[in-house]
Amino acid sequence: MIQVGINGYGTIGKRVADAVRAQPDMEVVGVAKTRPNFEAEQAVENEYPLYAAVEERVDQFAEAGIELAGEVEELVAASDIVVDTTPSGIGEQNKPMYEAHDTPALYQGGEDADLVDVSFNARANYGEAEEADHTRVVSCNTTGLSRLLAPLREEYGVEKVRATLVRRGGDPAQSSRGPINDTLPDPVTIPSHHGPDVNTIFPDLDIDTLGMKVPATLTHTHSVNVELAGDATTDEVRELLAGESRLFVLPGRLGIDGSGKLKEFALDAGRPRGDVWENAIWGESITVEGDDLYLFQAIHQESDVVPENVDAIRAVLGEADARESIERTNEALGVGFEV
Ligand code: NAD
Repeated sequence: MIQVGINGYGTIGKRVADAVRAQPDMEVVGVAKTRPNFEAEQAVENEYPLYAAVEERVDQFAEAGIELAGEVEELVAASDIVVDTTPSGIGEQNKPMYEAHDTPALYQGGEDADLVDVSFNARANYGEAEEADHTRVVSCNTTGLSRLLAPLREEYGVEKVRATLVRRGGDPAQSSRGPINDTLPDPVTIPSHHGPDVNTIFPDLDIDTLGMKVPATLTHTHSVNVELAGDATTDEVRELLAGESRLFVLPGRLGIDGSGKLKEFALDAGRPRGDVWENAIWGESITVEGDDLYLFQAIHQESDVVPENVDAIRAVLGEADARESIERTNEALGVGFEV
């Protein structure tokens, strides 16, 4: 069994912990938290050994009546691999700790690409992470674009990608984020940083991205134009995308007209936390005009990177090839909607 430590038990960390626990070949050694808040209490409730991430705050856990299994250094020492799911920039501060214990680490999309040996997406470049000490599972948006572009590149070749990313202002629990009532070009300069981030996965890809922020919390929405190198029809592309296990081509008959109904659908389907691990692509939007493919997709920012973190664990440790790992992860989690 692969022993996995999770440092940072917030939006991504708690989901990764549950996903790791669901795998037949992995165990959660423990999770590390900075503060004794509701998530810390929930971690204990879920029977995850809880480690203090900050030495000076150990007493706060005792005062809150929360029993600790130890401090984060002990968690790192006991783990075959650590998934760092701390806020942007903290992973960089933690890197020397992982190096001191010779424990390979996965970081998240908030960290700079320069921090790591390899940026990772399971569908696109799984094999490149083998034996890497420091691996970055790319952001929710980059994950969503990489999953979409990998099969298109393989099947038709891609001349150019132009994508507008309409981004949620914050996650549902991020009461400090916004905008509340505005529509922001963000960044106002073009291209946005997202295109270069996709280039950490596909270095030779010609891609321009534009970013916006809107008062929404449920998902990001991408408006995508891909100029294909080879001939394709709308039906062929729809079939290609529908055959990908982490792309969910939404049938029009479901009447899912936006992120609200998509989340409701996921909750009704019994998904934990209403998570949508797949890119949700509106089937009716898939259109080929000449060389140009157009579509809309929703990206559930809180959860699409979760199966990717699970696969990255196996990729780094050389425990399975891409196909085996993706299948194992999908099966253990229940990726893919029956419609
Ligand atoms: P979060 O704030 O929800 O969770 C981070 C957790 O880490 C919190 O519980 C926080 O208390 C804890 N923490 C803070 N400092 C710590 C430290 N020194 N040691 C251990 N724990 C510490 O953040 P998140 O949304 O889960 O984001 C984590 C990473 O994932 C970031 O790099 C982010 O960019 C990336 N990411 C976030 C999303 C998203 O939409 N939420 C999507 C994809 C990737």
